[in-house]
Amino acid sequence: AAKAEAKQQQEDGRPNLPKGVVLGPDGKPCRSCTSVASWMAMARSSPSGSKPTNIATSVPPAQTTSSLDIPSDCPPDVEQLGRSTWTLLHSLTANYPERPSLTQQSDTRQFMSLFGKMYPCWVCADDFRAWMQNGNAPKVSNREEFGKWMCEAHNAVNVKLGKPSFDCDKWEERWRTGWKD
Ligand code: FAD
Repeated sequence: AAKAEAKQQQEDGRPNLPKGVVLGPDGKPCRSCTSVASWMAMARSSPSGSKPTNIATSVPPAQTTSSLDIPSDCPPDVEQLGRSTWTLLHSLTANYPERPSLTQQSDTRQFMSLFGKMYPCWVCADDFRAWMQNGNAPKVSNREEFGKWMCEAHNAVNVKLGKPSFDCDKWEERWRTGWKD
């Protein structure tokens, strides 16, 4: 119910938050679900004294990660969390056996199921679980299949976010072997 309320609040625009700020199930802004740009817009619009924490304003450039001047030792926003997570997920597929045992296949299915429940951006997790349940259960019979499936999963998010799709014939060059010269 709290989650539904948070979603409803988001849709209604209550409380008055900048576009892109996603509330967590507790009704507070969810850092892992919100981009740094939106978070900073919220920080700017907050009354003095109620600014969200962890947006440092005087960090030397050497410690920053992007043009938005975000310190590299701050909690991740939805994009940084996403990039790091995709690196982990694609690297898992790159190191998956060519001939996995039945136990490895079952562990992998279980991992993806738990991942879909525990991913810290809850709106991302909800959509990802729905995608898996909608005829896209993890394909884990071998490395090639799992790698392609993960690429398709990533493309589903790319499409949702209006980003270009990645050519899944190239997943292995991107994540395992390196690009052919
Ligand atoms: P990323 O999409 O993070 O990709 C990193 C690198 O992977 C790219 O540079 C490219 O080299 C490579 N790559 C791109 N596509 C593919 C592919 N299909 N297969 C293999 N390699 C590829 N963000 C939201 O704002 N809303 C969401 O609902 C949301 N849902 C997410 C769900 C999951 C499960 C995950 C892990 C992340 C989600 N994200 C979401 C984050 C989002 O996908 C991106 O990670 C984030 O926007 C940063 O994007 P990016 O352009 O830097 O590259």
